[in-house]
Amino acid sequence: MFAAILIDKGPHTGDAYTTALTQVDEAKLPAGEVTVRVSHSTLNYKDGLAITGKSPVVRSFPMVPGIDFAGTVEESADARYKPGDKVLLNGWGVGETHWGGLAQKARVKADWLLPLPAAFSERDAMGIGTAGYTAMLCVQRLEALGVGPNAGEIIVTGASGGVGSVAVALLAKRGYSVVASTGKLDEADYLKGLGAKEVIDRATLSQPGRPLAKERWAGAVDAVGSHTLANVCAATRYGGVVTACGLAQGMDFPSSVAPFILRGVTLAGVDSVMAPYAARKAAWDALAAELDPKVIASVTKEIGLGEAIAAAADVLAGKVRGRIVVDVNR
Ligand code: NDP
Repeated sequence: MFAAILIDKGPHTGDAYTTALTQVDEAKLPAGEVTVRVSHSTLNYKDGLAITGKSPVVRSFPMVPGIDFAGTVEESADARYKPGDKVLLNGWGVGETHWGGLAQKARVKADWLLPLPAAFSERDAMGIGTAGYTAMLCVQRLEALGVGPNAGEIIVTGASGGVGSVAVALLAKRGYSVVASTGKLDEADYLKGLGAKEVIDRATLSQPGRPLAKERWAGAVDAVGSHTLANVCAATRYGGVVTACGLAQGMDFPSSVAPFILRGVTLAGVDSVMAPYAARKAAWDALAAELDPKVIASVTKEIGLGEAIAAAADVLAGKVRGRIVVDVNR
């Protein structure tokens, strides 16, 4: 038996969406080549949606949520991994269609795993989690599309959240001039500590705006979507690049084509869930090279598995600063 958060829904629950910390029989683990003794998981925005049932993230029941985990291989039928190896996993539908990381055990496809970078402990890796790995994918995309550290100001929206906090730190470390947009102006010192040179109120971006605004941003990491993304595109400079990865304000995109056809702005979508192995490996290698574990510690709060259900609501309410790591063994 192992401890897990279990989400359930069906005739046996009276069709109610239930979430509980419970003991699960190891024989119930799903199919997969590698069984992992999970050390740490985390709470991303998507985990908040899954645990609360606010969005239909969970596709089959019962489901163990948790789109990320790090731990130690216990059994492996794949030559790439052997018992004792440290591994990590982000995405691939884990925690949505396949049992995830908010549990002491997980069984997954070997293709979905990455070796844990030597620079990080399991806890560090989950301090980064899907949010931080996505932040790196955004930064790498900006650079690949020609927006380098000297290009001009980069705006990060949802800056005090998981993606945002790590994006601010990574961009600043690479020498970019970072402007952080946040609804938590009392966290300005935190954001400046991560490397933001200026902090702006997200209210300046969250209402319907004009198709084009005064050109300011050379690039953007947007975790928010909706009017915020539209306003960021409208104020992006000629030839600039906006990476879009999130929907914390909304999934809508009430914009016009004006920034794209009149200013040559590129809107670059970033997905972490199905990103191929090579892209994930490159992102984690860069995280290991560039992100000091001390910075990870400064953006991380740790909770136990039993606290994850209550914390999920706080994540969705945008009350959480930085990242939440879940020690699944406490
Ligand atoms: P967090 O909850 O940690 O951060 C989201 C932040 O967005 C909040 O902290 C808040 O920051 C801001 N925010 C919240 N509500 C609103 C609102 N109504 N209007 C404007 N801003 C708001 O989430 P994550 O960082 O983990 O994820 C951010 C987004 O990115 C989510 O939508 C998530 O689903 C998505 N995502 C996508 C991935 C992909 O593969 N494409 C991977 C990972 C995440 P502040 O108070 O500073 O404004």
